[in-house]
Amino acid sequence: MTSRATRVLVLNSGSSSLKYQLLDMRDNARLAAGLVERIGEETSRLVHTPRPEGGDADGGDADGSGKRERTGPITDHTEALEAVSAELARDGLGLDSPELAAIGHRVVHGGLKFTAPTVVDDAVLAEIERLVPVAPLHNPANLTGIRTAQRLRPDLPQVAVFDTAFHTTMPEHAARYAIDVATADAHRIRRYGFHGTSHAYVSRKTAELLGREPADVNVIVLHLGNGASASAVAGGRCVDTSMGLTPLEGLVMGTRSGDIDPAVTFHLKRVAGMSVDEIDELLNKKSGLVGLCGDNDMREIRRRVDAGDERARLAFDIYVHRLKKYIGAYTAVLGRVDAVVFTAGVGENAAPVREAAVAGLETLGLAVDAGLNAVRSDKPRIISPRDARVAVAVVPTDEELEIAQQTFALVDEGRTVIA
Ligand code: ADP
Repeated sequence: MTSRATRVLVLNSGSSSLKYQLLDMRDNARLAAGLVERIGEETSRLVHTPRPEGGDADGGDADGSGKRERTGPITDHTEALEAVSAELARDGLGLDSPELAAIGHRVVHGGLKFTAPTVVDDAVLAEIERLVPVAPLHNPANLTGIRTAQRLRPDLPQVAVFDTAFHTTMPEHAARYAIDVATADAHRIRRYGFHGTSHAYVSRKTAELLGREPADVNVIVLHLGNGASASAVAGGRCVDTSMGLTPLEGLVMGTRSGDIDPAVTFHLKRVAGMSVDEIDELLNKKSGLVGLCGDNDMREIRRRVDAGDERARLAFDIYVHRLKKYIGAYTAVLGRVDAVVFTAGVGENAAPVREAAVAGLETLGLAVDAGLNAVRSDKPRIISPRDARVAVAVVPTDEELEIAQQTFALVDEGRTVIA
């Protein structure tokens, strides 16, 4: 019908992994999705799913989805992206296709400078590099992904979509820590927040679900995956979020502690004799649910709770208690709340977490309808009783779609928009 380039490849590069999705922006259809993991090891693995939505309600996880798997060493990200392109080419969707309009990259830390998706040039690369000290695990991997994609398609716009961008609207009184200003500024220490692409997408979808404009709606978004964060969104703008300088602050997570008295770290160093690296690992990798009960998967924790396991029960209660505190805090921050919305792996699937998080909060206008809460669905839905003052909702997040849409909007600017 048209030879216009309408496809966007979304890349999410981790230190040893590369996740990807190819979307057609005419109808947001997913043409392919996949993952390369254990890059740099002997046992690298590429799992490629053509047409992940092609009739599979669960996104292509089921057998018979046409999933293709390849194992064997993939030495670096360049090789990984070449392998991805080869898989795509088998379905006529290779990276050399003229229908590819752009590549959208998830970049974790954009600091204060990047408030919106940005077409990558040398200056943008240098700025992402400058932010490595505040995102030592993520930004180097994201940079590798961008540089690799640039080498393979130097003619194509590469767009960086930042996890922090949505939170750059936070007012100074929410973003600043109450520490010496000169020290904070010298080291760019402040609250940046993460998961911004998800918070942006989910808060907008929630307004849609309520049949209102984002500008008219105040929402508390609870993104509960393995990493977890809450945000307070007033009229489409983020006014507070639970993650801070790094993704360690805030809610109890799969392996991260979330909020903690910073003096615990001094204590661990001075009294327990731990090194800074050991404390970093303890708080980021060995805390949260896994530290409390040995498991970080909410499905397993619920099984154990139901079987009467006390440690799992306490871990669940601590997790929910923290969530409640943030719901209360963000109700105070927003003044008027129209919806509390749950998203990501735990938020979308764990009915007991949703029920427990709002239990006893009737005075804030919050309640869930047990029947609606028990329904399993991959669609946005309201789970509060009909007459509730505040809607409680479940809205599946879709960070790849959001990255693709933001990328395409940027590169397609000025051209005819297809409805
Ligand atoms: P991330 O992107 O942060 O790795 P996800 O958003 O995919 O994480 O969430 C992963 C988590 O979701 C798992 O660790 C698990 O705790 C939880 N989860 C997934 N499915 C279910 C389910 N059916 N019931 C309860 N929890 C679930």
